[in-house]
Order: sequence, then structure tokens, then C-alpha cells
Amino acid sequence: AKQQGRNRFNYFAPFMQEATRARLILANEMRDALMQNQFRVLYQPVMELSSGKLVKAEALVRWQHPTRGLLCPSEFIPVAEHTGAIVGIGDWVFRQAAQTAKRMQVLHDKNFQVAVNGSICQFLEGGFNVAEWLDYLAELRLAPNSIIVEVTESLLLEADHTVVHKLQALHHAGIALSLDDFGTGYCSVAFLKRYALDFLKIDPSFLMENDAGADLCEAVIALAHKLGIRVIAEGVENQRQQAQLQAAGCDFGQGYVFSRPITSDELDDLLSSVDKP
Ligand code: C2E
Ligand code: CA
Ligand code: CA
Ligand code: CA
Repeated sequence: AKQQGRNRFNYFAPFMQEATRARLILANEMRDALMQNQFRVLYQPVMELSSGKLVKAEALVRWQHPTRGLLCPSEFIPVAEHTGAIVGIGDWVFRQAAQTAKRMQVLHDKNFQVAVNGSICQFLEGGFNVAEWLDYLAELRLAPNSIIVEVTESLLLEADHTVVHKLQALHHAGIALSLDDFGTGYCSVAFLKRYALDFLKIDPSFLMENDAGADLCEAVIALAHKLGIRVIAEGVENQRQQAQLQAAGCDFGQGYVFSRPITSDELDDLLSSVDKP
């Protein structure tokens, strides 16, 4: 048993060192990445299910790394959160998202909304400055409700006074709030009321795998509607799911069945193709 224990140690120790070293290197490289313009924002279309109209988009960040290629958020957001770099990245994504919302409103649809994802670190002391965000929107002459901030249940669970205060300040200024990944955590109905949320995002692959899932999904949508919250289904991958969600009264859909995340130019093209059929 002793022999085995030593082998395990020998096997895992170098592996853990390797992972820690890789994270440290990434954290270092990230410091210059913003200044060197290496981040990109893709936009995933959100469709109104009843009309089939493209009415919103979610901003999703990517890192065009000079040697490692295009990195997905799961490959660098945890490191960014750990080092605090997420605050600067989040501010930058917010500005890109606001510019894109403005552009789509001027060119296509004056009610177009763009959603950004929020990390807990951004809402803590030393996180983004609410007044700066609002000043930027004023500078662009963009109505605050053109921006949706998506927060997860786990963020709300961890929320302390500063976090709640920031969320409320954003909301009072008119920025829309959305609860992301609903159904993957605690599903606390209390959150829905306490934060006067505008949107709820549910993952249909989680909720609609069988009849019981479909019933649960319908019940959640009905409850949300009672509370004045509109529902966005994310990860909609096929037409069967799309039809089920529509039948269940879901308001909006986002997923590969409609479109993968695309650039702002591609978003413009997509909206142009429906403007002038
Ligand atoms: P999320 O907020 O749940 O975003 C949805 C993720 O699902 C995106 O992954 C999107 O590309 C993917 N997706 C979209 N449609 C489908 C589909 O039909 N099927 C499946 N299986 N997946 C689909 P992505 O872009 O890799 O982002 C992953 C996560 O990273 C996001 O999850 C979000 O939590 C986080 N993230 C992305 N951008 C930002 C950001 O700017 N700031 C912060 N703090 N987090 C971000
Ligand atoms: Ca999201
Ligand atoms: Ca989500
Ligand atoms: Ca997610």
C-alpha cells in the first residue's frame, strides 16, 4: 500500500505543478493582451420565438492568443477572475457590446439589445464603476435598457452588500438584468423577485429531456411570466426543442439551431438580409 501511495504521489505531483505553471504563464500573458488588442467579442443572436425576428444578441468573449490560437472563455476566464484581470476585460467587453447595440439600433432596430456576462469579481469592491458604465452609454447616446447584464445563480448566492448595491444601481439606471443558467443550480425562486429580474435564461437540454422535463419547463415559464419576467431558452440545438419551447410559451431562443456566435459585421449582415428580403 505504501508503494502504491508513493506511485500516486509521483504521478500527480508533476501534473499539478504543470497546471499551476501553465496558469501562471497565462496570467502573465493576459496582462498585455488587452493593450495589444487580442480580445474579440462574438455575438450570438437571440430570436423572438413568436415572430422569428432577431431582436437581441449575447456578447461572448474570445482571446486571439498570439501562439495558442483562439481561446474560449473556459480556457482563460477562470484565470482572469483569479488575478482580477476580468475587471478590465469586462469593461472592454461592455464597451464593445454597447457600440454594437448602438450600431444595430441605428442601422436596423431601435430596440435591439446586447447582453454581457457578469463575473462576481466585477461586482465586488474594486470591480467596475457603475457611473463609468453609465457615462459611456450617455456618451454613445444609448438608452441603458439596450444593455442586459447576465448574472448566474451562484453569483447571486455569493452576493454581499457591495454586489447587491451594484446590481441595484445598474437596474435603477435602466440596465436590464438577466438570470443566466437557470435550473443548473439552486433555482431559488426568491431571487427572481428580490432582484426584479427582466429575463431568465433556461437551458432546454436540462429541462426538456422527457415529459417531466417539459412540464417543469412550462411551469417555470408560467411562473416567470406571473412575475413579469421574460424567458430566454439557451442552447436550442434542434427544431424539436424549438417547437416544444414555443408551445411552452417561451419568449426567446438562442442556440445553434438559429446561429452560432458571430462577429458584429456578420450580425449586421444577418439583420440586413431580413431588412431587405
Ligand atoms: P454562457 O453565458 O452560458 O454562454 C453560452 C455558451 O453556450 C457560449 O459558450 C455559447 O457559445 C454556447 N452555446 C451557444 N449555443 C449553443 C448550443 O446550441 N449548444 C451548446 N451546447 N452550446 C451553445 P462560450 O462562448 O464558450 O462561453 C462560455 C461561458 O463563458 C459563457 O457561458 C459565460 O459564462 C462565459 N463568458 C463568455 N463571455 C464572457 C465575458 O465576456 N465575461 C464573463 N465574465 N464571462 C464570459
Ligand atoms: Ca450568458
Ligand atoms: Ca448560460
Ligand atoms: Ca454557462
